[in-house]
Amino acid sequence: MKLIILGSGTCLPSTSRHPAGYLLDTGAELLLIDCGDGTLNQIAHAGYDPMQITTILISHGHLDHFAGLFALLMSYMVAGRTNPLSILCPPDLHAKLLTLLATLDTCGTSMETSWLGTHYQRIIDPLEPGNSEQPFGKLTVMQLVHADLIAYGYRIEVKDKAIVYSGDTEYCPALISLCKKADAAILDCSFPNGTEANGHLTPGLAGMAATEAKAKHLILSHIYPETDRHDLNAETQTSFIGKITVARDLLSITV
Ligand SMILES: [Zn+2]
Ligand SMILES: [Zn+2]
Repeated sequence: MKLIILGSGTCLPSTSRHPAGYLLDTGAELLLIDCGDGTLNQIAHAGYDPMQITTILISHGHLDHFAGLFALLMSYMVAGRTNPLSILCPPDLHAKLLTLLATLDTCGTSMETSWLGTHYQRIIDPLEPGNSEQPFGKLTVMQLVHADLIAYGYRIEVKDKAIVYSGDTEYCPALISLCKKADAAILDCSFPNGTEANGHLTPGLAGMAATEAKAKHLILSHIYPETDRHDLNAETQTSFIGKITVARDLLSITV
């Protein structure tokens, strides 16, 4: 599998880090995990065709994780997408997405059916925690701890490889089970060690979760600008001795 980091940043402005977005190329399927602002262009920068995405997973309803979805869907309408698309997200975001899509339909009656996706098969489904077999492989959904909304972490298993994406979360027992022996775990690394990280992780906490879960490769992402000034490798090595990668936009990692 190939993981391409489209956005390793947050909701704050950065010249080097876009809001959250990750492509997972399994060889047979192309998944998009989170779709922050600017994701559409980042997909192009990564050398991929957005039309090839078959499934979109959204972790939670904060805008730095899904605001780019509307631009992506608009591009499908204009480019005339024909292949099916599945969008999966937490139930609280699901209801909002349906309302937003209807509200944002500014293309008039003649284009309305296109915007709503009837010219290609588009499924928008709420996810419940648990395991399921998806066209791309096995998906495990766990509710983690972040703010006052439903925030999911995802584990994707294809053949004998497992990739975990935490989205935004605090350190919690569910995160450890989600990351169990993962080949790669992309974890929230919002704030540096020694700071209050309400709703998020620090490098030390991400490392602790990776150590407890025996994860093989820890990828630190969702990095706030102030955190970028810190030595994140060193701060992670206080609790984790495995392979560490500090994410950067358009970095491609083979898992
Ligand atoms: Zn976020
Ligand atoms: Zn968030």
